[in-house]
Amino acid sequence: MVRTPACGGNEYSGDGHGGEALVLRVSLATGRMSGSSIESDRLAPAPGTEDAYYPGNAGQPHPGPTRVALPAAIRDAIVAHAHAEAPNEACGLIVGDRSAADGGKALRWVPLRNALASPYRYEIAPDDLLRVTIETDDADEVFWGIVHSHVASPARPSPTDLRQAHYPDALYVLVSLAPSEADPTTEAESLRAWRIVDGGVHEVDLVIDG
Ligand SMILES: [Zn+2]
Repeated sequence: MVRTPACGGNEYSGDGHGGEALVLRVSLATGRMSGSSIESDRLAPAPGTEDAYYPGNAGQPHPGPTRVALPAAIRDAIVAHAHAEAPNEACGLIVGDRSAADGGKALRWVPLRNALASPYRYEIAPDDLLRVTIETDDADEVFWGIVHSHVASPARPSPTDLRQAHYPDALYVLVSLAPSEADPTTEAESLRAWRIVDGGVHEVDLVIDG
């Protein structure tokens, strides 16, 4: 295999937890809060612990929300679609009543075709995208989540994903089929959500509902 993965996120393969950035952030916060209890919330776990991988995060606060609910039925359907499309990347959309940025909730999952039919990249088939855009507009709904799979790398946006992120109010939801990324107890596939805003990448905790 000579092709360089354009989407697989290998550029960011590391310990996967951005530990150095977190330690730095906490030590800075500790220095600032000396003698003051008002700033003690700075010691709360920082939402952007992936900052080490995303230089665009420098100086950016988390745009929120830091946590959203996702119905279990949607999660299961996304994972099933990713397996069905493997070894190529799979893609689709989660339609919501309002954007995640605006406090909206996920309503339904719409699997779509990957026009590139590639293990390394995805592009929602343009006619699929047009159809869903019209359907959601007509129903006064929005793209709550933009979903794709990584077949062999973590569920974390790659540099290509960042360049293609044109919906700052949506969540970018990634599922990894890599066994090494699965939950060690349940073996459930890793599913993670992100907001990509002004070049910054901020994880949003997914709480599986139901
Ligand atoms: Zn990707």
